[in-house]
Amino acid sequence: MRVQEAQRITNLPPYLFAEVDRQIARARERGVDVISLGIGDPDFPTPAHVVARLKEAAEDPANHRYPSYEGLRAYRAAVASWYKRRFDVDLDPDTEVVSLIGSKEGIAHIPWCFIDPGDLALVPDPGYPVYATAVLLAGGDPFPMRLRPETGWLPDLDAIPRDVRAKAKLMFINYPNNPTAAAVDGTGFFESVVEFARANSIIVCHDAAYSEITFDGYVAPSFLQVPGAKEVGIEFHSLSKTYNMTGWRIGWAAGRREVIEALGRLKTNLDSGIFQPVQYAAIAALETPPEHFGQVLPAYARRREKVVAALNRLGWNLEPPKGTFYVWAPVPKGYSSIEFSRHVLDKAGVFVTPGIGYGSAGEGYFRISVTIDDARLEEAISRLEEAGVGFS
Ligand SMILES: *Cc1c(COP(=O)(O)O)cnc(C)c1O
Repeated sequence: MRVQEAQRITNLPPYLFAEVDRQIARARERGVDVISLGIGDPDFPTPAHVVARLKEAAEDPANHRYPSYEGLRAYRAAVASWYKRRFDVDLDPDTEVVSLIGSKEGIAHIPWCFIDPGDLALVPDPGYPVYATAVLLAGGDPFPMRLRPETGWLPDLDAIPRDVRAKAKLMFINYPNNPTAAAVDGTGFFESVVEFARANSIIVCHDAAYSEITFDGYVAPSFLQVPGAKEVGIEFHSLSKTYNMTGWRIGWAAGRREVIEALGRLKTNLDSGIFQPVQYAAIAALETPPEHFGQVLPAYARRREKVVAALNRLGWNLEPPKGTFYVWAPVPKGYSSIEFSRHVLDKAGVFVTPGIGYGSAGEGYFRISVTIDDARLEEAISRLEEAGVGFS
C-alpha cells in the first residue's frame, strides 16, 4: 500500500530547521563539539516553588481526572489578576481568558476558527513560523507583512493593499519580537493596529510571549492596554519564557470574548485541557515575587551585551536589543543566510540560525539565542574571533 499524505501536509513548506538539525548532527558525528546558539529555550530551571506546587498537586487524586476544557477557574482568575497587576487591564476570567497547552497551541488553532479557504491572514515576515503554517493548514493564505530595520521592524500598515485588507480575517503581531528582538516604543503602534483592525474588520492576535524578557528599564506594553484593543483582538501569552517553563506546556489567550469563546469551542473538540497540577503550578508561577527575575534577566542582559560587543569588534554595528533573548544581525556580504550559518558551523563549530527560516524577508540575517551558559557563550565568541568571522 502506498501511503498518500493529504495535501495540507504535502503543501507545508519544508521545515528548514529539520535540515539544520541534520547538519549539526553530522558535524557532531565528525567529532565537532558544536555550540548551538540556535535554540530559544531558557537554560535556567523553573523556580523551585513552582515545581513544589506541581508535586503537591500531583499527589492529590482529585487532580488525576480529566481537567475542565477552558482551564481551572482559579488559573483563569490568576491570569486576570496578573494582567491587572502588570498592565492594569481588566479581564473577566469567565469569558475573556482561555487556557492553552502552550501559546503555540492556541496560535496554531486560531486560524481554524476564523479562516475559510480563500481568506487571508496577515503575518509578520520575518516571523515565528507557526503563524504562516497554521494559516496554511486551515486552508487560508498567509500574506506577509514585511518587517524592515528602517521602521524598527514594525510592519507598514499603510502599504497593505486594499484587496488584501478586504480578504484578511486575522493579523498576527509579536512584540518584543522573535526573531528580530525589536520592541515597540510606547503604544503608538498598537493604537494604529487597533484603528486598522477596526476599519478593516480584522481580528488581531498579539503574541506577547516575551513581554517579561526586557532589559535596561524597558517595560513592554500589552496590546490589550490600548483603548479599543479588547474589541478587535486577543493576546497570546505563555509562562514558557517568563518562568522558564517551556517544557510544561501551559499558556493562555485573553481578550475579545467571542474570539476566546470560538477558540475554546474548537478546543473542546480537540483536546481535554491541561493536567490540573500543571495549572496549579502555573498559578504559583504567576504569583512569583519579582526577585525571581533578579537572577534571570541580568544574565540574559549580560550575555546579549557580550554577543553584541563581540560582533561589533568583528565589524558589525549593533545595538543591544531591549527585549527577548535573541540578537538579530545581518550576514556579511556575499553570503546567503544559509551559507553564512553553514560557514560559521564549518569554521567555528558554532551554530547560528539562518534568517530565511523565519520567512523570505529574514534572508540576509541570522539569529543568535543567548539561552546558553556564560562559559559556553564565551567559548563560542572566542571561536568566532579565532575563525576570522567578520562583517564587511
Ligand atoms: C516561544 C514562543 C512561543 C511559544 O511558546 P509556548 O511554549 O508554546 O507557550 C510563542 N511565540 C513566540 C514568538 C515564541 O518565540
